[in-house]
Amino acid sequence: MGPVNTYRIQIKGLVQGIGFRPFVHRLAGSLNLFGTVENRNNGVFIFINTDKDGMDSFVEKIKSLAPKHARIDKITVETVETIPFTDFSIATSENVSDDITGISPDIAVCPDCLSDMELQEHRKDYPLINCTNCGPRFSIIKGVPYDRSKTTMAEFRMCPKCEEEYSDINDRRFHAQPVACNNCGPMYTIHINNKTTKNINEIVTIAAQLIHDGSVVALKGTGGYHLLCDAYNENTIKNLRISKAREGKPFAVMCRDISIADKLAQMTSADKEIIATWRRPVMLLESRGILAPSISNGLSTVGVILPYMPFHYLLFKKLHTDTIVFTSANFSDEPVIISDDQALTKLKSLASAVITYNREIYNRTDDSVCRTINYREFIIRRSRGYSPSPVNTQLKTEGIFGAGAELNNCFAIGKGTQVIISQHIGDLKNAETLDFYTTSFNRLSDMFRFKPDIIAKDLHPDYLSSAFAEKMASELNIRHVNVQHHHAHIASCMAEHNLNEKVIGVALDGVGLGTDMNIWGGEFMIADLCDFERMMHFEYVPISGADKISPEPWRSGVAYLDKYVKDMKTISETLRLKEIGQDNITLYRRIMTAGINVCQYSGAGRLFDAVAAISGICLFSSYQAEAPMLLESAVQKGISRCYDFEMKDEEISFGKTIEGILHDLKKGIPAGEISAAFHNTVGRAVVEGVKELHEISGIHKIVLSGGTFQNKYLSEYVINELSREKFSVYFHHQVPSNDGGLALGQVVVAAARRDEGYI
Ligand SMILES: [Zn+2]
Ligand SMILES: [Zn+2]
Repeated sequence: MGPVNTYRIQIKGLVQGIGFRPFVHRLAGSLNLFGTVENRNNGVFIFINTDKDGMDSFVEKIKSLAPKHARIDKITVETVETIPFTDFSIATSENVSDDITGISPDIAVCPDCLSDMELQEHRKDYPLINCTNCGPRFSIIKGVPYDRSKTTMAEFRMCPKCEEEYSDINDRRFHAQPVACNNCGPMYTIHINNKTTKNINEIVTIAAQLIHDGSVVALKGTGGYHLLCDAYNENTIKNLRISKAREGKPFAVMCRDISIADKLAQMTSADKEIIATWRRPVMLLESRGILAPSISNGLSTVGVILPYMPFHYLLFKKLHTDTIVFTSANFSDEPVIISDDQALTKLKSLASAVITYNREIYNRTDDSVCRTINYREFIIRRSRGYSPSPVNTQLKTEGIFGAGAELNNCFAIGKGTQVIISQHIGDLKNAETLDFYTTSFNRLSDMFRFKPDIIAKDLHPDYLSSAFAEKMASELNIRHVNVQHHHAHIASCMAEHNLNEKVIGVALDGVGLGTDMNIWGGEFMIADLCDFERMMHFEYVPISGADKISPEPWRSGVAYLDKYVKDMKTISETLRLKEIGQDNITLYRRIMTAGINVCQYSGAGRLFDAVAAISGICLFSSYQAEAPMLLESAVQKGISRCYDFEMKDEEISFGKTIEGILHDLKKGIPAGEISAAFHNTVGRAVVEGVKELHEISGIHKIVLSGGTFQNKYLSEYVINELSREKFSVYFHHQVPSNDGGLALGQVVVAAARRDEGYI
């Protein structure tokens, strides 16, 4: 044994709120080591007396045996002045600097707690049961270091029994901050017909009966309210759609367990693994068409989630049905409701009963949405269970605020070398969402001790996020930088993979303002984090109508036909476009000829809209990207053919593709085959474009991003074909490829520019 020193070990990462201190305490106990462990805002600190070998093996054991929800980013060890410890203990949490460690996302209830809910006398059917391995975290946290006093559990005093468990090193609830039971914790209440009851068995029985009878029930969740109803009752679902003003958007469903999910939808082993993780996202799966048709509303997919709160499990024990609609309680584009008062007033018109509990939701989080692409997790909406986990980079990101986009907004803040991305905020189109954005910015800044130094925003001046950013920049008198939309997309994917050299980036999406003031979205670039060069793009097509273009795909249809076919007779005869009416088409063409409100679009989104319209799949869209989603849903598997397209210097033209589609329509080829051949064509065009850029540049690292790559068929086609050509392909796994990932890109572009001395 060597000389004994006091070592100070700092551990950064996700090490608070997941049972890390008790773990260290037990580990030290088993090794007979004396010292302390404490939470500080900048990580877990261990002081320990041992010799060099003892310290090395202690650190090794910390790494290999850490609790399963922990994520260790960095361990720093220093020798300090010797402290004569006589035991090992947990010291009081401390606030020491502006540095910060991770805040845990919310964790689905664990199997041990589900069993305790049946066996423990004081937690019999206790619907908010939790332990160090599970329960609410981010949604209840007001500040760090993570302690009960800094959560919305602060007002609940532990009963002697809970206190005992909380203080017992051998108990699973040792230092579990939200620990609670039937005697001391928050309670549920059901509000029905101006009456209330707090008895959990009655609440669950009433809720199950209402759902069975075809009613809708509002239920307070981890990060917001949900609306529930029977997933087999077409009438109820149709009515819910009308009253929620959610005309076409698909609803997610919650199944009793994974065997039911397996019955409802096709799942690979990767799907099965992700759907059951503690993060519990909604998984987009290929539906088997068993549920009420209005749930998916024409899409071939269904969003499935498994129970994640103790209450959900209690409810399924009483429910007759094995699957319920599980949709966030909000109106149209507003954020999901989190306040009990609002739930009780606003949801009255939608739900027969409102079920609340008396613990405040501090940080709103929606259910996250994922799918698998090439058997890997791909995030479409990043919120509960994921947020506020950071993306680790190798750049100095401190002080950089990324304002994000307009739709599917998330913002991001830089801390150290990390980028912390906010929970999904939504479409910044109304006062409520902007308020959510502002509040969340203030809260995250506060929690993570964030002081903005540089503001990164989209080039588009009209985004509310850009306006917010500019106002902040002028108020604080700090610099702001503009980051082109598609460069930000590519940079976000590069950041996930720690790439900082020149890459070939392909960004396909709906709309984003280009540096030439045209609307981009079919972009091939050579980029590094600082800058990019636009090398090639989908051919510009003039389209008129601004805000109407997205909800009315038929306009894109006419615009593409107008550019590539011109012949009036063909345009008006093209299948379902006839439904628009000759007068409307003529008028629209006249408006375009006159150049009224016309912009040049190179967006893949518009091309998908146009093909969805021309092939009769979608003329009007009731939610964002409905037409491309329906077009993807229509794909007939096993079709390998492509339409022609042309590579013209810097532009890829799909004129021949449109001609080919018209030809197929005339021949009566089914829409599914047309859709598949069209997807193959776009995929092939991406591959050919990449090959051309590779010829010029010799670069073999290919980065894919943008909302269009949420399309599983297209993404898998492109990834597989590029891999076959021996390219290294980089795709998203930590943030969405849609605008929800944009803020990450903005932050890393600003960080790289600051690093290089450009700003
Ligand atoms: Zn638990
Ligand atoms: Zn208790």
